[in-house]
Amino acid sequence: MRRTEPSLKADANRGYSLPRLPRMDFVLPEFLRSMWVSDEARLRWQPRIESISTAWREMEWLTVVEGVRPCVLCSVSTDGWSELRNRSKKQGLTVVPLMVQRSMSKGSAAANPSAMIMRAVIGRRRDAKRFARAWANLDCAEAGALLGYPECCCRFFADAMRQSADQEMLWTVAARSYTTGAESRLLRVDGHPELNIFWRYLGVKAVPHIPCNLNCADSLHLAEQFAGVGRSAGQEDAIAWTSEILRWPLEWSVLHGIAEMKTPIVKLCTNSVATRSRFTIRKSGSAYPEDGARGVDFPFQQQTAVRTSRFTDGLHIIYGTGQ
Ligand SMILES: [Zn+2]
Repeated sequence: MRRTEPSLKADANRGYSLPRLPRMDFVLPEFLRSMWVSDEARLRWQPRIESISTAWREMEWLTVVEGVRPCVLCSVSTDGWSELRNRSKKQGLTVVPLMVQRSMSKGSAAANPSAMIMRAVIGRRRDAKRFARAWANLDCAEAGALLGYPECCCRFFADAMRQSADQEMLWTVAARSYTTGAESRLLRVDGHPELNIFWRYLGVKAVPHIPCNLNCADSLHLAEQFAGVGRSAGQEDAIAWTSEILRWPLEWSVLHGIAEMKTPIVKLCTNSVATRSRFTIRKSGSAYPEDGARGVDFPFQQQTAVRTSRFTDGLHIIYGTGQ
C-alpha cells in the first residue's frame, strides 16, 4: 500500500506548518455520549472496555516501576491519593502534585458535581521534580522525554501546540498519515493498529501519547514495551481485547463542533473544533467483531464476521511469533 509522506511545509521561524481544520468562532462544552449498536455488543464489550481502562492505568504506573520510562502523568481522585502515594513510595517513587481539576467522569460528576481529581507526576524524586519544572515552563520536549515519548512525537506535539493549543489532533495526525485517496475533506488512513488513537475517547490505547503519525516506528516500539509490562503483570486479556478493538475499521467525522465516531460496536459523539463543513477520516481495519453491526456503509461489513485471531494475525505485536 502506498505510503505518502505528509505534506509538511518547512518554515524557518515556526518549524512546520501542520494540517489543521478550518474553524468557526465557538466552542462547545465537553461531553461524550455513546450509543451501542446492540445489547449483545454492549453486554460483551462495555465491561471489557472498562477492564482495559483499569488495566491501562496500572500498566502506565508499572512502566515507571519497571524502568521503561522515568515518569508517568496520572489523574487520581482525592480518595485514591493516599493509596497511590503509599504504593509508589514502596517502589522508591515520589508523587508530585501538579494541579487540581474537576472530575470529567460522568458517574462521579453526576453523583457529586464538585468531585475533584489531582493531576500528578510519579517517578524517582529527581525525575518527578524535573517533570514538574518542565510542566510549569510548558516545556513539551523535556516533559515528553521524561514520559518516555519518542523524540519525533515530542517535536510534533510541540510544533502543534505552538501553532494552536486548541486543535483537533486526530485530524492533524491523520492528515500526516494518509495512505490512500486523500482528499481535502476525506482522509483514508491505515497505519499500525497499535497506533490507532481514535479509541482514546474510551480509554482504549496501546501507547500513552499522540504519535507523530500512524506509522511512527518509535511509537510502535513503545507499544511493544508497554504490552510486555502488561503481560508480565497478568493483563493478557486486556491487552488482547485492546489489540482486537484497535484492528476494527472506523469512521470519524466532525461538523459544527461535534465529532462523531462510528465503530462496529458503538457510536460516540463528543465535542471537537467547530467546522463549517464536514471533515471525515476513514480508518481501515484488518478484523471485525462477530457481534458488530452489519451494513453497506463504511465502516460496517455485510459478510459473516471475521473474528480477530491472536494466533493468525501476522501483524499482532502482542502474540506475534517474535514475542
Ligand atoms: Zn513519532
